[in-house]
Amino acid sequence: MEIYPPPLRELINELKRLPGIGPRSAERIAFHLLSGDRSAARRLAGAVVEAVEKIGYCRRCFNFTERDLCSICSDPGRNGRTICVVEQPTDIIAIEKTHGFGGLYHVISGKISPLDGIESGDLKIPQLIERVKREKPAEIILATSSDVEGEATSLFIARELRGHVAKISRIAHGIPVGSSLNFADEITLARAMEGRREF
Ligand SMILES: [Zn+2]
Repeated sequence: MEIYPPPLRELINELKRLPGIGPRSAERIAFHLLSGDRSAARRLAGAVVEAVEKIGYCRRCFNFTERDLCSICSDPGRNGRTICVVEQPTDIIAIEKTHGFGGLYHVISGKISPLDGIESGDLKIPQLIERVKREKPAEIILATSSDVEGEATSLFIARELRGHVAKISRIAHGIPVGSSLNFADEITLARAMEGRREF
């Protein structure tokens, strides 16, 4: 016998798909949303729909934006001579919090992972190479994660860009192996950026 009415079961199943949410948490959140005043649940649903419909990708760097260009790409105060390559928009937030980087970014939307069937062409790497040829920056900083896939992705990009940019550097590894950039604290990340080495 099914204990939950189907719409509630559906809600729990969708919550379980979220990162860091196990079956118990999914149940707790679902019951919380449905108990008492439901206006908070309606606001949450509305915010999800609004974000999904309005937030797209910057046509230059693939950061999240609700316009054509993101707030960083359209800021004339940023230094367009340096492009920092990251895996996800959350990495941009992490680096911005260090206040130590004034250049631009390029989000490749993941990392090369042959075991998961993810190749360079599935990521925004071809767009990065085109962009570098077009914008001719002075330096590319590779800030992919420090696990095996992150290292392989940086190596691949460095090889592809060789000859197209004067300096290619890799952030230093104060960051624990296997962790994504956004888990590093701001000081560690600022040091990693400062201590970057030429590829
Ligand atoms: Zn942008």
